[in-house]
Amino acid sequence: MQNEKVALFIIFGGSGDLARRKLYPSLFRLYQKGYLKDHFAVVGTARRPWTNEYYHNIIKESLADLKPDDAQATAFADHFYYQSHDVTNTEHYVVLRDLAAKLDQKYQLNGNRIYYMAMSPRFFGVIVGHLKSEQILTDAGFNRLIIEKPFGHDFQSAKELNSEIRTSFSEDQIYRIDHYLGKEMVQNISAIRFGNNIIESLWNNRYIDNIQITLSESLGVEERAGYYETAGAMRDMVQNHISQIATLLAMEPPVSFSAEDIRNEKIKVLRSLHIDTIEEAKRNFVRGQYGAATIDGQQLDNYRDADQVATDSNTETFVAGKMEFENFRWSGVPFFVRTGKRLAQKATRVDIVFKQVPQNIFKAASDNDELAPNVLTIYIEPTEGFGLRANAKQIGQGYATRPVDLDFRHSARATANSPEAYERLLLDALNGDSTNFTHWDELAQTWRFADVIEQAWAQEPAADFPNYVSGSMGPKAADELLARDGAKWVFDPARPEIEN
Ligand code: NAD
Repeated sequence: MQNEKVALFIIFGGSGDLARRKLYPSLFRLYQKGYLKDHFAVVGTARRPWTNEYYHNIIKESLADLKPDDAQATAFADHFYYQSHDVTNTEHYVVLRDLAAKLDQKYQLNGNRIYYMAMSPRFFGVIVGHLKSEQILTDAGFNRLIIEKPFGHDFQSAKELNSEIRTSFSEDQIYRIDHYLGKEMVQNISAIRFGNNIIESLWNNRYIDNIQITLSESLGVEERAGYYETAGAMRDMVQNHISQIATLLAMEPPVSFSAEDIRNEKIKVLRSLHIDTIEEAKRNFVRGQYGAATIDGQQLDNYRDADQVATDSNTETFVAGKMEFENFRWSGVPFFVRTGKRLAQKATRVDIVFKQVPQNIFKAASDNDELAPNVLTIYIEPTEGFGLRANAKQIGQGYATRPVDLDFRHSARATANSPEAYERLLLDALNGDSTNFTHWDELAQTWRFADVIEQAWAQEPAADFPNYVSGSMGPKAADELLARDGAKWVFDPARPEIEN
């Protein structure tokens, strides 16, 4: 049996999409595993006037995919309490305080509280202010605040939001969610690097030519268009998830795998992240917006035709660009990043392209002038694993070489049993482990980086939108970007796979 955790969760936005799709099922998995047992309770707050009974049904419905047994689902849902709550109404916090105190007694929660902000960021300030002024924060036990993305719209707004939150919570009580950091293979980047001498010894600018991070989605904006229209791919993906992956790839080995040591290294390497000038940003980043296509008989519309999107929208649904870390290890090694919607395939992966051997001695004997570069690929989604592309001799006469792929993928069964990102992150927060959350210093630096690119783009509307067709891998400019540095994208679904 697992070590039981003791806490009261107060979820702001308890009727929302995130709570139902991610939080309740994740809490239930922790319950099934015994991390949550007798000493926990959840208060869900939202505006609607629901009864506890109705709320319990919502909780049980949200567990449907997990196919729980009825008695267990009911016992779990019994720990949930609903409070109709307008976040701007001080009176409601008084009611919440009394309910929290009652539940604390009933379940013997020792004053441990986790506050989860599962609603629009514009309310975070007013909520945390009331948590303090209405004395919902406890003196005994821990008080931890979990905050969802987006954390700000740019550096200035993120800073203001952070100052608001810091009036009630100290940095070590704040858990800023980046759910990519909860994914198995993202966490595995460190294991691959620091657990394998043959990899870590080559992990620098002497052996690595370039690093490519691709986070491609096959879907369009769907029902998130209203939010997306105000954000775009840069804010939605690059400033947070992609920057975090780049940081884990680039950081120095930490002294230990503790939250503090890892954070220190992440913050340190981010200080070396080159912040472009406006002119550099225009050269180093390209943007795109998807256009209509017919794929497998299905008619896909333009981004500009989606509901809640302006017909002349300038919002990018694709970004490709170059990040650079200016330090001893990485000087001269571009980190090419790419993300977008309606791309050819849904995939998250990192390709590390190694430099060529000093000379191709097989040239005369082979049809190929060029040896293929060695590539280490870390697959994050949809399959998890890693692969190494190496050159081998072709069987037969002569010395022709050809690339072969050494590939390791976790079995579908192992992947299915791996905890969901949100389950991991909730357990981390219960344990007070902030390794997989984003520190303010990291966020501040990635916003400074993203801001310049946004400013560069704001200076000139994109004249060629839409500039890539749905189902492709983005605009041609994304390929040209790499070609300028003598590189090309390793991951290209249109190119045939190498046959082993
Ligand atoms: P949602 O619109 O589905 O839910 C919002 C919740 O806030 C509802 O429960 C609503 O009742 C409540 N609410 C709104 N105004 C209120 C008020 N004045 N007083 C009290 N309650 C109020 O939103 P969501 O998709 O669940 O997203 C919540 C947060 O999580 C957002 O910050 C979003 O950016 C972030 N997020 C969501 C997802 C996701 O998959 N849904 C993913 C990443 C981040």
